[in-house]
Amino acid sequence: MVYENPDGVRIGLEVHVQLNKLKTKLFCGCSTDYHDSEPNTHVCPVCLGLPGSLPVLNEKAVEFAIKVGLALNCNIVEQTQFHRKNYYYPDLPKNFQTTQYDFPIAANGKIIIEGEDGEHVVGITRAHIEEDPARLQHMGTIDRSKGTLINYNRSGMTLIEIVSEPDMRSPKEARRYLEKLKSILDYLGVFDGDLEGAMKADANVSVFWGDRVEVKNISSFKGLERALLYEIMRQKNHVRRGGEIVMETRHFDEARGVTISMRTKEEEHDYRYFPEPDLVPLRVADWVPGIRETLPELPDAKRERFMEQYGLGETHARALTTEIKVANFFEEVASKVDPKDAAVWVSDILKGELNYRELSIDAFTVEDIVAVVELVTGNKITEQSGVEIIRTVLDDGGKPQEIVEKKGLLKVEDDIVSTAVEEAIAENPEAVADYLGGKEKSLNFIVGKVMQKTKGRADAREAREKVLAKLND
Ligand SMILES: [Zn+2]
Repeated sequence: MVYENPDGVRIGLEVHVQLNKLKTKLFCGCSTDYHDSEPNTHVCPVCLGLPGSLPVLNEKAVEFAIKVGLALNCNIVEQTQFHRKNYYYPDLPKNFQTTQYDFPIAANGKIIIEGEDGEHVVGITRAHIEEDPARLQHMGTIDRSKGTLINYNRSGMTLIEIVSEPDMRSPKEARRYLEKLKSILDYLGVFDGDLEGAMKADANVSVFWGDRVEVKNISSFKGLERALLYEIMRQKNHVRRGGEIVMETRHFDEARGVTISMRTKEEEHDYRYFPEPDLVPLRVADWVPGIRETLPELPDAKRERFMEQYGLGETHARALTTEIKVANFFEEVASKVDPKDAAVWVSDILKGELNYRELSIDAFTVEDIVAVVELVTGNKITEQSGVEIIRTVLDDGGKPQEIVEKKGLLKVEDDIVSTAVEEAIAENPEAVADYLGGKEKSLNFIVGKVMQKTKGRADAREAREKVLAKLND
């Protein structure tokens, strides 16, 4: 099946990733650990852009950026250089942003996503390093704000801006691209995606192969899909009414789920880029081989390995390798019990219970899930009891073995089930007659009685088999 893209939709994303696992900011020694601090307490003359202050490049930031570039299959530039991008905005104390212009650290890469019609390659145009501006907090909504507060704690944090080709053909593909990108960055250990401001996207959107509109300020996967659905619909309706799409920048209002026109699109010359005179060009070509060696196994490679090594299907392998923490957790479990059982219990059951409670895998231990799997596969408890144990651990705490005892979850002995089956049949002659007369449903009634007699501790499937065997005797 080939996806025809009937509305000529093209989506490109510019994703800003904050490399918040660095200890200090891009050009100064201020700590990056500001998320729980008072506003404007992690600042110095450099990140405030005070006159006379000079930037000193954080080499670790360049190393992290090279790592990202390599993981995105990019070419790394031989020699990198910073530029000043000049514009006036209150979040930018220097009136220019130090960024990269004609020597981006990485270019010409690709990410493979699950597209509308199978595997889909999204080109990476470039990835460059730049500093994060301050944070503006508007009082009310951005288009009707009475005033604005500025917090410079974020100013000067290292960002890497990853620009894709306009290769996505639907909001779903754009979302998958963003998820895949997050997964890769998560593997690299260069950022913590749970921190506020860790990842933000601007989207370029066009329909009917026309001019593109930029939608800014998208900060979540769900937000991205909603913003794109809205913007595509808006453009299509506009064109159908005979309107023309003009290049402009729009803001996504997450609360209202709409995009609002902010300004016509800036041209590059509006920014008056020029080389940053306070930072010398930096030759990084010799760094690359060493950094390449430190690259971890990435999601695609891990997925393939899981399928081969553990005999997992594609769906399980994919679900278990999206997050590095889950992948590591699974491998520990799989080293102690049958890997296929491990996949079912970690991927289908535990992850479902965690998602429902909005918890991460850290909320459960390998030891406890192994205990549950062993209880079930050792035929000591039913699968339903296994699920109940997981829920109890998450909601009330405790160890699987204790919960088994406290709740009396041990499966009842075989002969107790047999006795219950005999009693249920003897006590319900009408149901038996109905079943023998062709009423299939009566069987469920009898099995239900067996489950009642064993207080639910019999395995329903086994009980059913025993009833059938007895009736067909
Ligand atoms: Zn500083």
